[in-house]
Amino acid sequence: MAIQSQQESRVGRAVRPAREAAKADRNRAYARSLGWGAHLTAVRRALNRRRTVWNEVTLVTETAKWQARTGLDSDGVIGPATWSLLRVAAGLAKDPVISVRLPDSGPGFYTYPPGRGHHRFGRAETIRALQIVAAAWQQAHPRGPRIGIGDISLHGGGPIRGHGSHRLGLDVDIRPLRADGPETPVLQGQPGYSQALTQELVDRLRDNGVLRVHFILFNDSGVRGVRPWSGHDDHLHVRFAPPTRSGASQATGAKAAEVTTPALTTPAQPRLGTLTVQVPGPAGGTPAYRFSPEDLVWTARFLIGEAGGRDDPASHAVLHAMFNRYALLTRPYYRTFHAFLRAYSTPLQPVLNDWRAARRHMHHPDFAPRGGTYGPRAPAGIPKGQLRTFLDLQRRPWEQLPLAARTVALRALSGALPNPVGNATEFGSPRQYFRDRFGRFPNAEEWRRYTEEFARSEGLLWIGPVPGLDQARNTFFVRRKFARLPAGAVRILPP
Ligand SMILES: [Zn+2]
Repeated sequence: MAIQSQQESRVGRAVRPAREAAKADRNRAYARSLGWGAHLTAVRRALNRRRTVWNEVTLVTETAKWQARTGLDSDGVIGPATWSLLRVAAGLAKDPVISVRLPDSGPGFYTYPPGRGHHRFGRAETIRALQIVAAAWQQAHPRGPRIGIGDISLHGGGPIRGHGSHRLGLDVDIRPLRADGPETPVLQGQPGYSQALTQELVDRLRDNGVLRVHFILFNDSGVRGVRPWSGHDDHLHVRFAPPTRSGASQATGAKAAEVTTPALTTPAQPRLGTLTVQVPGPAGGTPAYRFSPEDLVWTARFLIGEAGGRDDPASHAVLHAMFNRYALLTRPYYRTFHAFLRAYSTPLQPVLNDWRAARRHMHHPDFAPRGGTYGPRAPAGIPKGQLRTFLDLQRRPWEQLPLAARTVALRALSGALPNPVGNATEFGSPRQYFRDRFGRFPNAEEWRRYTEEFARSEGLLWIGPVPGLDQARNTFFVRRKFARLPAGAVRILPP
């Protein structure tokens, strides 16, 4: 059921006025770089549809409240992580990860009302958390009653009839339990209502091991772990926290490890986007490229091998540099995006391309020779091979890849991932190059000078600081000829 946004604002944390100006500055930069400035009316409406007076400061405070009740860090800044959810909540974009439908019934649960399956889509983690809780419930209560599950979200999320929330695949309505058998509605406190079973349900939900429970709204003050809210006598409204970073870090307790192997397989028919170059001139003549399920799997593996598999701006940046590189530079040489990834990325190469890398690793216990040696330009006797860790990564099936990497890959290839690097096609680590040369890491000023100097010597331009993007490890550069292209020349059109 609907949560009223005004009432909800009590949940939010106040933002200190002294810091609001700096936050407003960051929002101004993000409004341009992420593009949400063009949708300000919809953004404000999604944050608080009742507020009529808006300025940069109220935008910060309303954003902080929205972040707090959504389960994000509430800094009041609409950066990449917040925007990726807010744009869905605002109805500006569908989120392809909200695509798993809870079956009409299964071990330990039924759904209500009948015929409303289109309101029961969630993230894979949400559905899995519910199924785990219900299956354990079934074991504990083999003769019933089962758990009654109502609305979750629409396919792809977004505004949904009859609710103010339920937009992100993270809200679930669940009936309180009855002690007397029938699987029908009951109000807390009515005859037939079981406080003991309802308490057990709350405890099991909070202990699901997949997703952190952000809050549960329900009006029986005798139940621990819920908070009262008007309109919540006949159902519990469960809000899970979004699995933004690594899914595992969100889970509670010792069961956290389970989250790395959820029963999510390659979506049977993942809805993937099309890579396009939207500029006049020769580059604009590049034909559009439609991503395939194979690209999806290799993209997730790439994220793990190159960027640690995290869902953060740094890995979004690396991925966008690869999209730019493929679209603007290497498309003629590789028939598919994953062929390009496998050639470019050291961890994804079947055999290390570079004999220097092989020479570094040839005596390592993890090195697996693959037969033969490198060609005449390499010193004799260096065996061709690859590290076993990387070979394992290359073989690991989709369902065994960490959830965060799969989620980012799916969002990226369906055009839902913000691009923090513009038209950059290159990235490298001047911090590391500095260290190789001077034997120590640079301070901030040295790093900046060295980075600019490095760019000049390579015929590149540093993209400069980007709010929210830490470029210490990977620093991003644009080729001079692409610096003149309009921002966002390479785009992934959603399916
Ligand atoms: Zn609800």
